[in-house]
Formats: sequence, C-alpha cells, structure tokens
Amino acid sequence: TPVAAAPRRGAGADLSVYHGVWVFVELERGKVHPVSWELLGEGRKLATHLGVPLSGVVLGPDAPATLAACDEACEYGADTVYLMRGEVLSDYRTDPYTAGLTDLVSTFKPEIMLLGATTLGRDLAGALATTLATGLTADCTELRIDDETRSLAATRPTFGGSLLCTIHTLEYRPQMATIRPRVMAMPDRVAGKRGAIIEHQPKVAEEDVITKILSFIPDSDAEKAQLAYADIVVAGGRGLGKPENFKLVQDLAAVLGGDYGGSRPVTHAGWIAADRQIGQTGKTIRPKLYIAAGISGAIQHRVGVEGADIIIAINSDPNAPIFDFATYGIVGDALQILPALTEALQER
Ligand code: FAD
Repeated sequence: TPVAAAPRRGAGADLSVYHGVWVFVELERGKVHPVSWELLGEGRKLATHLGVPLSGVVLGPDAPATLAACDEACEYGADTVYLMRGEVLSDYRTDPYTAGLTDLVSTFKPEIMLLGATTLGRDLAGALATTLATGLTADCTELRIDDETRSLAATRPTFGGSLLCTIHTLEYRPQMATIRPRVMAMPDRVAGKRGAIIEHQPKVAEEDVITKILSFIPDSDAEKAQLAYADIVVAGGRGLGKPENFKLVQDLAAVLGGDYGGSRPVTHAGWIAADRQIGQTGKTIRPKLYIAAGISGAIQHRVGVEGADIIIAINSDPNAPIFDFATYGIVGDALQILPALTEALQER
C-alpha cells in the first residue's frame, strides 16, 4: 500500500504537539453508524476534562451524504470536522481508508482517536495503529483521563470477563481505542449546531489500490438485525430446553414489536443465528425493556444487558443470579409464562 509508517515516538518524545480528541465517523453507503454519535458523546467528556477540542473525522465519496455526516457530527457535539472525500473512498476498503486517516492524523496530530468496535472500525483501527506505530486498546467499556499522566485510561474486560483491565498508552500518540456499539450513551442532538469543516484531499489514487469492489451484495438480514438498537428485546437461554421452544421468545418479541436474542449456549447450539448472541462476546444492548427467559445471568451475559432501563427475568430457580440485577423477577416455568404473556398482550 502507499502508506508510509509514521516515525516511532517512544520514551522522552515531545507529546505536547498532539492535541484534541478525534472520533471516526463511520459512514457506509450513505449511512452513519450510530456508534459514532455515542463516541462523540463520550469524546466530549474526555475533551472537556482535558480542555481541548472535540473533532469528528469523516471519510467518504464526494456526495451529499458525506457532507450531511459532517453536519450531523457537529450536531452531536463535534467542534470541528476533518473531512476527506473522493471516489477512492466511496466504499470502505482497508488500504485507502488507512492511508487517508494516517495522513490526517499525521498532519493534525490528535492526542486521542476513538473508533467504534464494529466490523469496519475493528479492521480500520488495527491497520491505522500499525501504520502510525501507536498502541490500540480494543473493545473498551470505559474511558477516562488519568490526571497524573494526562493519558487515556481505557478499560476493557479480559480473561473471559472475570477481570477488568485498564490500559494506558503513555509514550505513543495518538492513544487509540475502539468501543463497542451501545456501551456509551447516545448524546443529545442539537439541531442546527455548526462547526468548522477542515477539508484535506486524499493522496491515494485508485490505481494504487489493489482491492477492487466488483459488486455489492447487501446482507438481507442486516437491516433486520438491529438488535443492539432495539427498544424492546426478548431473549432466551438454555432453560428453554430445546430449539423448538425458542419460538415462544420470538412470538413474545413480535407481539411487543421488539427484537429477539439469546445467551451464548443457544447461539452456539445453533438455535438462533450467532449474531443474535447477547453478552460480552456477543452484542451489547440498551433497550427500554429487556425480558430474559431461562437465562441464569452469568457475568458474561450481564455485561451485555445491564444498560437496559427495565429488566424482567423469568427463571424457575429463585436463586438464579439474574434476579440480583433484574428490575422485576418472575419465578416460574418460562414455557408456561412466555405464551401466557404473549396471549395476554395479543388480547390488548
Ligand atoms: P444456564 O447457565 O444453563 O442457565 C439456564 C437457566 O435457565 C438457569 O438459571 C435455570 O434455572 C433456568 N431454567 C431452567 N429451566 C427453566 C424453565 N423451564 N423456565 C425458566 N427458567 C428455567 N454468555 C452469554 O450469554 N453471552 C456471552 O457473550 C458470553 N460470552 C462468554 C465469554 C466467555 C469467555 C465465557 C467463558 C463465557 C461466556 N458466556 C457468555 C457464557 C456464560 O458464562 C454462561 O455460561 C451463559 O451465559 C449461560 O447461558 P444460559 O443462562 O442460557 O444457561
């Protein structure tokens, strides 16, 4: 690729030239992934603590949606937006995006760079950290500024979620982190708020990019699988006994106008699709209402659901750990309670 690696900084280097918090605005096929706005909300807290500006970074084709993403970034809190547009950035490809972002970061030198831990963000963050020769803390659940070192303290679960590990990038800049969708709260949008847009031209030419997109086949399930952003989620676990019983979960989700998911054993057993797993190694959700049926409430499941406003647990064991964090608990057989709830709601 035409990417030139930035020089290593290392111990004793002058880091004061790095300034500001940047959030990568993930724009794909004209749509911004909402994790970008969640990160602008979180980035604002970090920027305020440090007393530095907050910026969005938008890469995309020369199209109205790219400019709309810049405006939206300002409405979600960015003071400035760094923009790079061109046909070479039309569809996401690792090489031109890494080259473009490396160029922007090397030129404007932010001290912190945040990306969503989405499929795209994970790919881009790893490539970018490599070309910039800096550190990357992936899949963080908490970010704060350590006042003593003025560095980013990025916390992520480790050892299967049994430990939380906080990582500081002391000698390298920018300090990079990816954060999973829905872990951070969505900030308020201030309609009409504007900020400066600083445009920078891409230096990569199409002929330098070895990856070509021949056609685009949309994932027919992608639109439907908005589990992470659903307002109502009903989930089932191993307590349902067998795959056929999972229909009881889907029926209740349908009558409530919500989506459905499951614990790891049910996705691993193939009762439902793998991308419907909720928890530490699945999706993080923040619905208004979460109903968990036949799920014990192991820590790895809990971390993915504790942002829900209301949690209703249905479990036959009154001592199941899920009752420790559920808002309401129903002790009983999910195979009887789920259809009874569906029927009662259908009658309304
Ligand atoms: P179980 O723990 O077997 O619980 C079944 C529950 O159903 C029990 O509480 C039981 O009392 C109840 N029950 C039984 N019959 C009935 C009935 N008729 N009616 C009502 N209740 C009934 N898990 C996740 O969910 N998501 C993850 O992302 C995840 N990631 C992991 C990552 C790692 C590295 C590791 C080590 C584990 C991970 N796990 C994850 C697994 C997790 O530790 C638990 O094993 C899992 O969540 C348990 O699933 P469960 O609650 O469906 O099953």
